[in-house]
Amino acid sequence: MIDNYSFNEHHKRFEPYETKCTYCGENHMKTMNDCYFVPLFVTNDRTNIVVYRSVKYSKILIGIPRCSSCKAIHEQSASKSQWITAGLVILAISLLAYNFMLLSPFVVVGGFFALIFGAIYGSKKMTESFVVGHDIYTLQDGAETNEVVRDLIVAGWSFTQPSA
Ligand SMILES: [Zn+2]
Repeated sequence: MIDNYSFNEHHKRFEPYETKCTYCGENHMKTMNDCYFVPLFVTNDRTNIVVYRSVKYSKILIGIPRCSSCKAIHEQSASKSQWITAGLVILAISLLAYNFMLLSPFVVVGGFFALIFGAIYGSKKMTESFVVGHDIYTLQDGAETNEVVRDLIVAGWSFTQPSA
């Protein structure tokens, strides 16, 4: 099933033999730690579980080859958007707090939850747009182009943890 990968028992992850970066398609990966390890979860029945040396896994990490420059872009984009989001959240919370007396509790509570969801979603979207600005794949898009990942998705695996 996973031919061009070797299983690292210590880290419980599949490490690619391929070194060409999936994200820019140009550079080569120099160390395994530059890889992006995408977690995949089994969603339906037990038959699709990856069995390695009689140990069964319902969550596995698949390494997507990545060069150090793409790794830096991914990390910098994420931290930049987190700082911007944090700033906006503080601003919004102070506006809410400042107008606390004028607003109904319902609006305050609703606004607070909208803020949390907006911050999580907005930060993710912002990270993606920063990454795309560098002309490389986002973490997720790159992972989706990987053939092993595709095969596992077809076999019933998922990027999101199934709720028990
Ligand atoms: Zn790259």
